[in-house]
Parts: sequence; C-alpha cells; structure tokens
Amino acid sequence: MNSLSILKQYFGFEKFRPMQEDIVNAVTLDKKDCLVLMPTGGGKSLCYQVPALMMPGITVVISPLIALMKDQVDALRLNGVNAAFLNSSQDSYTQDQLIQEIIRGDVKLLYIAPERLNPASGDFFGFLKRLNVSLFAIDEAHCISHWGHDFRPDYLTLSKLKSHFPDVPVIALTATADELTRKDILERLHLNEPKVFISSFNRANIRYTIDDKNDHFSKLTEFLAARKDETGIIYCLSRANTEDYAEKLTEAGFSAQAYHAGLDANTRTDRQEKFKRDETKIIVATTAFGMGIDKSNVRFVVHTSMPKNIEGYYQETGRAGRDGLPSQALLFYSAGDLMKLKKFAFNETGPAQTKIMMQKLERMADFCSSYTCRRKYLLNYFDEEFEAPCGNCDICLNTKVAETFDGTIIAQKALSAISRLKEKFGALYVINFLKGSTTAKIYDEHKYLPTFGRGSEYSLEEWRHYFKQLLDLHYIEKYGEYSVLKITTKGKSVLFNDEQVLLHPFKSKKIARVERKGKYEEAALDDYNKELFDELRKLRLALASLENVPSYVIFTDKTLVELSTYLPTQMSDLEHISGFGTVKINKYGEQFVSAINHFCSRTNTHSRMSEILPAQSAPKKSVSSSSSSTFLQSLELYQRGMTVAEIAQRRNLKEATIQDHLLQFILTGELNVLKFVTKEKLKTIEEKIEEHGNVSLTLLKEQLGEEFTYSEIKAAINYRRKLREVVKN
Ligand code: ADP
Ligand code: ZN
Repeated sequence: MNSLSILKQYFGFEKFRPMQEDIVNAVTLDKKDCLVLMPTGGGKSLCYQVPALMMPGITVVISPLIALMKDQVDALRLNGVNAAFLNSSQDSYTQDQLIQEIIRGDVKLLYIAPERLNPASGDFFGFLKRLNVSLFAIDEAHCISHWGHDFRPDYLTLSKLKSHFPDVPVIALTATADELTRKDILERLHLNEPKVFISSFNRANIRYTIDDKNDHFSKLTEFLAARKDETGIIYCLSRANTEDYAEKLTEAGFSAQAYHAGLDANTRTDRQEKFKRDETKIIVATTAFGMGIDKSNVRFVVHTSMPKNIEGYYQETGRAGRDGLPSQALLFYSAGDLMKLKKFAFNETGPAQTKIMMQKLERMADFCSSYTCRRKYLLNYFDEEFEAPCGNCDICLNTKVAETFDGTIIAQKALSAISRLKEKFGALYVINFLKGSTTAKIYDEHKYLPTFGRGSEYSLEEWRHYFKQLLDLHYIEKYGEYSVLKITTKGKSVLFNDEQVLLHPFKSKKIARVERKGKYEEAALDDYNKELFDELRKLRLALASLENVPSYVIFTDKTLVELSTYLPTQMSDLEHISGFGTVKINKYGEQFVSAINHFCSRTNTHSRMSEILPAQSAPKKSVSSSSSSTFLQSLELYQRGMTVAEIAQRRNLKEATIQDHLLQFILTGELNVLKFVTKEKLKTIEEKIEEHGNVSLTLLKEQLGEEFTYSEIKAAINYRRKLREVVKN
C-alpha cells in the first residue's frame, strides 16, 4: 500500500503535513538515515509509524517516557495497528507472551525504553538480530547529547546501534535541538550520510500574548472564565506558588490542582491522570510538569512569571495545541520578576554559568517588552526567518500597539543628546538631561549644552518607552558594564540625513487597561456547535473509560470539532472527518453518527457535510437534471445548512436563481415563509395585495418601496397562494 492510503486507512488523515511525506519516502524508498527536527505537535510520530506499516518487518521505537509509550501504543491499537511496548512496568509473564508474539512476526511497531538496550539487562541487540527489523526510530533524540537539556545516560547505548545493524535505516526525532545538539546527535548515533529535515518551528495555532503583571490575578480569572470548558497549564516559579494559585483558583470556582516535584509520587500520578482525562481542567505546575504529557487538547498555557529563557518559554508554550486547534499562550511580565530571577542566577554554580543565564534572562525580558511581533521574535531567536505581522499575537492583533507615527524628531532629540554627552552616559542620565531635570543630578557643564531640556514635553516613562524602541530598532546600542548608549551607523543616518523613524505611540497605563476589557473574552473557536461538541465529548469519555485510555487516544478534540461543525449524519460521511480511519469508522462510527442524528432531529439542526464533500457529488446529479430536480438540488443544499450565496457558488448559478428555486418550496410547505420575510413585512405586503388586488409584481414593488425586496414580495405571494390551495382542498 502506498503511504497516502496508509495515512487515510489507519490514521484517517487526508494529506501529509509539510515534510512528513519527504521523510517517509527517505526512509522507505531510499532507506536513508534521517534526523528530524520538528516542533511539538508537528507530527513526528507519523514519520515512523507510516513507514512501519509500509515495510515488511518490525519497527523498533526507542522512547524515554513510559507513560507516553503506553498512550502511543493504545492509540495505534485503536487504529488497527498491531503495536506493543516492552518495559519494566510489565510482569514477566506478559513480557514472555509478547516476546512470542514478536518472534512470530505479529507485531509491527515495538516501543522500548532505552534501558532495554543496556547490556546489563540482557542481550537485547542479540534478540533483535533474530528478528526482521525494518527501521529504528529514536524519539526525543536530544537525550543522547550532553548539550541537550535532558541527557539520559542510557541513550549512549544507541551509539552501537549502527554497528549492529549497518543496513537498517535509523530515524532520529526531536523537538528541541540547537546546532550543537544536532551535531552531537548525528555523531553519537553514527548515522550514515544522514538526511536532516528541519521543519519550521512556527506554531501558527498558538496565540502569544504578554501582559503587564499588575493586577494579574483578576486578569487571569477573566481569562479562565472565558474558557471554563477548556483545559490548560499554569506555570509558576516555585512550588509554594503552585499551591497558592491552585487554592485561590479553586476558591474562585475553577477546577485546578497543583503539581510539583515536592508531592509524593502517588499524588503526582493521580493529578496527572485526572488532568489527562479532563477531570481536572487546570494544572498549576512548576516547569517540571509537561515532559511526560502528550495531551493533545491543552488549550492554554499561562506563565504567571517570566520563564528563565526563551528556550523554556517556547517549549512550555509548545505544550498547548498539539492537535492544531487555536490555543493561547499568556504570560504576565513584571520587571520585579526579572530582578528576582537575576538574583537566582547570581547564586548559580560558576561565574560562566551565571553569565550565560543572565544573558538569556535579558533576552527573555527583551522579548516580553519588545514591540516586535512575538512570533517573529521567537523564530528569529531560533535562526528562522519570519515576515511579520503574524496576525496571531498581541502585538499584531492590537492595532493601537501596531500603530506607528513619524517619530523622527523624537529620535533626533535623543540621538543628539547622546552625541552631545559624548556617548558616555546611560539611558537614565540622557533622559534626565533631555528633560532638563532640576532634581536629578546633572553635571553643571552639561546644563549649558544646546540639547539640555529640549525634551521636557515628555515624561520619564515616555522617554523610556521611546529609548527602548530606539534600542530595539538598533538606532542605538548599549555598551559595556554601565550600559552606556552609543549611536549606531543606522542612528547616524537619522541624525545627519533625516532618515525617517517610525515609532509606536506611548500609551498610559490607564488606556492600556481600558483596551484590555474584553480581550480575554473572545472564544477560542467558533463556528462549531458547542452543545453537540459537549454531547460528543461525553460519548468519547464513555468509550475511553471502556477502553481504559485517556479520551484523546480515542479521538482528539480536532475530530470532535470537525464532527460538531459539519454534523455527518451518514456512515459514508465519516471518511471525510479527520481522525476516522477504517478501523475507527467500523468501531465507533455508528455510535457517533447516531448521536449526531439524534441531535439533529431533536434540535432541528441540519448536516453541513455538503461544505466539505468533494464537489463532484453535486454535478453528478445535475447530469440528469430536469428543472424540477434543479429546484430540489437547491432545496437539499439549503436544508443541509448552506446559505443562498454558498449554494449559488457551489452550483455556479446566480443567487437570484437559487432564491427563486427556494421560494417555490413555500408553495409546497417544505420551507417556512418566515425564512424569507419577517412577520411584520409579510403583513404589510399582504395588506397591499388586498388593497390592489392581483396586480403585477413590479407594481407591488413600486407600491411597497425600497424597503422591500423582490424576493420578499415573491415569498408573500407564494405564501398566499399556498394558503388558497389549502383552502381549496
Ligand atoms: P509530535 O510528536 O511532533 O509532538 P504528534 O506526532 O503527536 O506530534 O502529532 C501531533 C498531532 O497532529 C496528533 O494529534 C496527530 O494525530 C496530528 N497529525 C499528525 N500528522 C497529521 C496529518 N498529516 N494530518 C492531520 N493530523 C496530523
Ligand atoms: Zn505577530
């Protein structure tokens, strides 16, 4: 079977994501070793799961996290793939049974923990050699490197893999690897002329928002109140913080629990399980939480304080929205937190370590207070180009913030002050000098310089705001231990050649607060039927309990959203819903279709499948079209929930024509007249008809005036006609 049919049949997906197909081909056709760098939620698993199903033998997956292993295997089995895992949590009988099954060649994908390969736990390489291994997949491959953030000594055994199996392709996958780690992975695994795939690290479905920490608890509850049904993670700096927030949130009526390394193992597992099963909506955690979590429907990640570096921020926010649905990353920033973190950094082991941490903290703080598109900043930080605006971060969405004005004169004042002061002072001194401050200390000789006091129209805060931008835009730079300001070449052309500078206007706190109103209230998703979604979620939960797996292993939220958007009412519709592969259609299809059918008849809602069904289904019918069937086609589409405009577009007819088709069904009683004209208008039109008798449509229209459309009048006429028919019979 080719890769696309496998994707459809087993996983229920229509097409590969960018890069997946190339990777699958490299592994299966070229038998190449590969290194795959893809962000969380990018779809790494399919890069080896699809090849596993295409190749004749077994695929061995090395994965460090036992909890994830089980979920992956459960999910694969539900899709009809014979997958299994071997790990220390199983008793020896289970392991023996499994080994027999593997030897018989019945298992397509075998997940193992890296400890297995350690010679101390037996000759596992020897065992594998007796099998027909088609592919090795090494998940979380950065664990092999000291440079990675999560080094695992057991991964070092994997260095021998290629010498034991020189002809079996190896695919190594990771979501986090800088250049150094990347090189290290390739070297340690001894990959043979590997192909490296680096996908974009843009998480387009995550909306980044950074807000002032002032009054943040009320902002937080406002944010959470708008997402009561959704699940998410709140990250805090300390264990005590997590307990604190969890308690306050619980008091405020939210379903929240704390999670940190100080809790005993049982409590931790219990809380993690409850979160996985959506029983607890919010987990309030230290950054340790998340490694073992593969939950795909985390809708928001909140940072109550700034993380220590951008890498951490990216990784933690990346736990939101693995299923690709719109998700939120919200961070509360304060200069106070920055100071606190700096103090921690000072206590680090060595001066070199402290220095690196400080630099990373500065970059993180810069990210928080910058006016650059968040996504652009993040991606540039990871050496990826990105054109702003992204349209999905607070900077790009807030037109007030994105707004710029000609700030050339402001910039020139600032630059000329720096220049007069011979580029020997920091920002605060320059600002006080510009303001002509009488309270701050200014050297006497500076008081006679021409620029002294030339910037008194702006407050200290405003000047800080503008200096920050001049730094961001690289007109000036900070220099040396005392952060002395220097003018860059770019800045010189502003000073001497009048080059235009665009700045963001200053907004006082008061304005910022007013604008905030409603910011968190918008719903994350729209256009799907929430009521149906909830019903389907319950159905999913029931099925998940039967199988004893987390809900998202049965179906992700993305599948439920599609179901409650398009309302498939027939089994054949399901193959167009993402996540329904052949096995799942057979296993769960009827239950979902029947739930949807019940919902439709109970609430008088119609299926919208026609919007996504392949377009040929309509023209096929129209081949045999008589005029009556063309009317019927419009009716059918209308009843499936399409608008007149959509039907017109779909059928390539004029809207007026479609409207006429539909108006006919007022006569037959299949459509209610009130769908086309309001009660009040209907009454007026009827009165006019009574008054003038059976006159032409044009005349009626003239009598009724601009406010009435032809189709409203026609609707009324047909309605009267229908009533007469009824009376006659
Ligand atoms: P990663 O391991 O890179 O974090 P996953 O492999 O868990 O990501 O995939 C993330 C989500 O995306 C899963 O819910 C998966 O089913 C879905 N997904 C992956 N590839 C596709 C695809 N081609 N079409 C639709 N959904 C996909
Ligand atoms: Zn943006």
